[in-house]
Amino acid sequence: MATIRLRLTFWYTVALAVTVLAFGTALYFERRQASVRELDQRLTLEADLAQRWLAQSFKVLGRIVTTANLNPALDPGISAYLDAARDYLIVADTAGQLLALSDITRGLGAPALERLNAPLDTLPLTRHSGLINVGPPVGNMRYLVAPITNAGPAIGGLLVATPTRQASFGPADLLRSMLLIAPVILVASILVGNWLAGTSLRPVQGIMDEGDAIADGTSLHRRLAVPLTGDEIARLAATVNGMLTRLERSFSSLHRFTADASHELKTPLMVLRAGVERALIHPGTPPEMLQSLDETLAQINQMTEMVENLLTLARADEGRAPLAVEESDLREVVADVAETAGMLGEQAGVSAIHSMPETPVRLAVDQHRIREMLLNMVTNAIKYTPQGGTVALNLEQADGAVTFTVRDSGVGIAPGDLPHIFDRFWRADQARSRTGERPGTGLGLAITKWIAEAHGGSITVQSRPGRGSTFTVRLPKPN
Ligand code: ADP
Repeated sequence: MATIRLRLTFWYTVALAVTVLAFGTALYFERRQASVRELDQRLTLEADLAQRWLAQSFKVLGRIVTTANLNPALDPGISAYLDAARDYLIVADTAGQLLALSDITRGLGAPALERLNAPLDTLPLTRHSGLINVGPPVGNMRYLVAPITNAGPAIGGLLVATPTRQASFGPADLLRSMLLIAPVILVASILVGNWLAGTSLRPVQGIMDEGDAIADGTSLHRRLAVPLTGDEIARLAATVNGMLTRLERSFSSLHRFTADASHELKTPLMVLRAGVERALIHPGTPPEMLQSLDETLAQINQMTEMVENLLTLARADEGRAPLAVEESDLREVVADVAETAGMLGEQAGVSAIHSMPETPVRLAVDQHRIREMLLNMVTNAIKYTPQGGTVALNLEQADGAVTFTVRDSGVGIAPGDLPHIFDRFWRADQARSRTGERPGTGLGLAITKWIAEAHGGSITVQSRPGRGSTFTVRLPKPN
């Protein structure tokens, strides 16, 4: 199951269903016992009354059985009293032969009566009770056989019986009610379980949402709200906060180290460059040294660029790279970059074109950074476009935003590489470009992205290998 909430609901429902089932089963059996006890009590009462009536009558009359119709039978005057009995009643002689039947017993019909009579056939009669099925329509009956010894020699005993469905709230009723209620309980438990799981997991959801917001990498200073409950969730939030603190500390020491190291490297690199440049123009330098000095200078320049870029990114990470924002006409920046692009393009055999609106495009930006951003994109475009290709720089303004587009007809970027090109130090086909004719640091696009985002904007790229790439920076205009 996909979520903890679903799992909790499921197990809650299973637990509740098992509990209800166990409780229902126990209740069912207890109810069955109780209803048997109740019926037995009623039958005992009834048997005692009849027994007392017969004993009393015998005491008064001396003889209560007549043999007038050949078959011995209870005196009609005495048996009339038995008709009033609520339940089925049979009086038998010592041989188990019927002497009298109560009114409703007579209405049972011969087959049922025969079955009901069966317990009186086991002689001598002993007091016992049990269950007997007399067939439809009465069905199961609870009966009690009681021997009678004080109503003369002709009377052997009696049997009282009552249908089990007479029980006030019988087990069958209970079972029916339970089967009706069970689905309701089940649905209710699913709803309650789901709600309970949702409520108890809400703080976790909150922590997850906050965690997502913090995980964007620029919000490591933020902390989760620790609930005052002191429960597991509070402890979890506190633990995550502790982790964030340690993470923030190691990140900031990493940024500090990078910034410090880059800064410290700048001066020696400057000295190195000045030395190599001096050696290059010195008339005494042997001509065979010039090429290696040239290569050294190129490496020093690349290293200087990398150190500058690293310093910029480390400061940006630390939040120590503020933008010097002022309102300016972006066409000026574009014209400036286009001029540089023209020169670079000429050297590379790539034609650089540009277009922009005729009216001023005013926006509050850090001109220096925007220039750096456009230069990064344009130099990349020229760098990755073979001779004879074209690089176009466009400035547009529409839909409350300013858009810079740098389009080239160059080598393009493989679809698998696209998600990585803004990563630091990432370069496609590294071995070739590092040593070959396309030097670079792999930091340019990371800085470009940072500059676009620092202005509240975004950068996107579309590319087809062999056909060229289009980088688009969109800066929103404040309303
Ligand atoms: P680099 O210093 O290598 O140019 P970037 O961060 O500027 O570093 O670019 C990262 C990688 O993205 C480059 O190495 C290159 O593979 C790819 N890339 C950037 N711009 C283009 C482009 N216009 N055409 C093709 N590939 C490009």
